[in-house]
Amino acid sequence: MKTGIAHEAGSANQFPASAAAGSKLVTCFAPREQSQALLRTVPQRFYTAAFSSIDDCPIKHPLAAIVSDANPNALDMCRRLRDRAPCILVTTDMSLAFHRQAVDAGVRAVVQWPHNISEIADWLMQFEAQQQEDQLSVVIIDDDELSTEMYAAAFSRVGIRSTIINNPVDALHEIESTRPDLILLDLEMPELDGLELLKLIRQRREFISVPIVFLSAEGCPDRQLELRAFGADDFLRKPVNIDGLIAMARLRMSRFQLLRAMIERDGLTGLLTHNRLKDRLAFELERTRRTDSHLSFAMIDIDNFKRINDTFGHPCGDIIIRKLAQMLLDNLRKIDIVGRYGGEEFGVILLDTDIDAAKKVLDKLRQGFARQVFDLEGDRVRVTFSAGAASSLQAPCLDSIIRAADAALYRAKELGRNRAEVMVTKVLPTTL
Ligand code: GH3
Ligand code: MG
Ligand code: MG
Ligand code: MG
Repeated sequence: MKTGIAHEAGSANQFPASAAAGSKLVTCFAPREQSQALLRTVPQRFYTAAFSSIDDCPIKHPLAAIVSDANPNALDMCRRLRDRAPCILVTTDMSLAFHRQAVDAGVRAVVQWPHNISEIADWLMQFEAQQQEDQLSVVIIDDDELSTEMYAAAFSRVGIRSTIINNPVDALHEIESTRPDLILLDLEMPELDGLELLKLIRQRREFISVPIVFLSAEGCPDRQLELRAFGADDFLRKPVNIDGLIAMARLRMSRFQLLRAMIERDGLTGLLTHNRLKDRLAFELERTRRTDSHLSFAMIDIDNFKRINDTFGHPCGDIIIRKLAQMLLDNLRKIDIVGRYGGEEFGVILLDTDIDAAKKVLDKLRQGFARQVFDLEGDRVRVTFSAGAASSLQAPCLDSIIRAADAALYRAKELGRNRAEVMVTKVLPTTL
């Protein structure tokens, strides 16, 4: 096959000429029929292109490359592609020996043909989430000002953002507002020592998995074991070797970002999970207070969804949930945050958006969704959703904004569904 588009011409998957499209482009190296089956699993917001050989492929850095072991030289192809994109190897060979060769060739994911090819979508969503992560960021907590400045300068030279905390009492607050990918922690500090701070950080659910590395002169294995028991991940002996510090930090942070992308995202849609969405909403509300800005929060709920499940079965219901998730991602701005609030309910955080603008956005999404026709088991079906939105200007706390958006959604349902409602501000009676 020459440079080809596996999806039907004119669909959203046809890739545009611009090189900038690489971040959303998936290349596939497989025989024609297999290639079509593989690319059908790719969510619609990505572009796809199929090639018969690497030499025919003009795309330098796609989001991912899918390589089939039907190519006689599949592992060599993966080896050649490894520096250009994460490789997904599609294979029938599930033997350990073959998988070891795949690891050696730099393969990032192995998917079994033909049973597990739906996993391709999960991998792509993870690669995308990783790509979209903000710049790597580290928090350095040490009372020794000179050392912290030296570490920070070294991180800055390699493009890693760092925040210095010389007074451990400020640490929790700073960690909350910076959400680091790594915490470097000194053991001996006045007022609050490293172990105590470690316990305080690990008490918080949102910081349970962030890597914490101790910087200390402490080399005693028993003491290290005690610290590990409370959630320390690693130890670097002082005086710290700067090259070693940077190398370790990079590895820890990219591993953490990968795991976070897997943990925080819902399997069916790739959106933020319920808890993560609420965490993000709390975080963004806090930011609006600090920066004197505002946001709107919207809840979206598919109308009469139970009937769709009952009529066509759960797998068809799942297709609709995925489709709506994709549509939200495709049509909202990159800075907006979308999560799956529950079964067929979604939550959307619209930054710097007042309630009137939020209603316009929701109406546009709603109308776009209602126009789509789904082919469910041969029936042509239209589906709608209702939405309710609230603004941080009127409901500035997590609880109040969720309750207000939920109440607005409830009203949209009561008023007949397929509509967007916004919170009503209570007008207090004026006393004369
Ligand atoms: P309304 O317009 O009032 O929202 O009616 P509804 O039928 O959408 O609301 P209801 O809450 O009664 O039903 C929601 C249904 O969504 C029930 C549940 O079985 C289904 N559901 C929840 N999660 C999933 C999922 O992941 N996949 C599928 N297919 N269905 C799901
Ligand atoms: Mg110290
Ligand atoms: Mg519901
Ligand atoms: Mg519903």
